[in-house]
Amino acid sequence: MQNKINVLLIEDDRSICSYITTALSSNGYRVTSAITAAEGLSLCASLCPDILLLDLGLPDMDGLEVISSIRSWSSLPIIVISARSKEQDKVEALDLGADDYLTKPFGPAELMARIRTSLRRRHLSVQDSKYKALELEVDFDKRLVTLAGQEVHLTQIEYQLLTLLAENSGKVLTYSHLIKSIWGPYMDTNNQILRVNMANIRRKLEQNPANPQYIFTEIGIGYRMRENERS
Ligand code: CA
Repeated sequence: MQNKINVLLIEDDRSICSYITTALSSNGYRVTSAITAAEGLSLCASLCPDILLLDLGLPDMDGLEVISSIRSWSSLPIIVISARSKEQDKVEALDLGADDYLTKPFGPAELMARIRTSLRRRHLSVQDSKYKALELEVDFDKRLVTLAGQEVHLTQIEYQLLTLLAENSGKVLTYSHLIKSIWGPYMDTNNQILRVNMANIRRKLEQNPANPQYIFTEIGIGYRMRENERS
């Protein structure tokens, strides 16, 4: 029992706070909560939690500032929980270093799944050299992509995009993060070139590109690859 996962929750809405605390506690997590950013930041430094759940709309500071502040000294997983449905907020939170986000309202099952994914990703100390999900396999060492055992031929850019997504499977990568990673910081952040390449990748991997099984679109935000079954 001493190995409970410590969750820090920064949320000023007391009813949501107690809902999340109850849900997490009954699933075996230890939860500490704060209702202001200042209190949360201080608890974060003193408790060294395993994961942070962060509301963006806090009374004393914007949640986005909390992310920047924590990222200046810690790489702990941060999941944003927010009523804000504006895509720009989610993009900013992810670009500032949040690992994931959940839009309120959300159910306990989804919350648990996101927490498990974020924790698991952090615990992969050495990057796995293979990605596998359903019939797709990517062998990073051999630079080999297979679908149901058949080699898939990708261009250099398509392969780079696929491996970036596969290495971060389960996590949303924003359009600008993908563009900067592949084409460099001076690339126009116009998404057209990214969309064309993603369409080509999907045509090669997905049985039905309109209903993808491997690479999911988070509309207005970016792409999320199906979680690696090996991790
Ligand atoms: Ca709030």
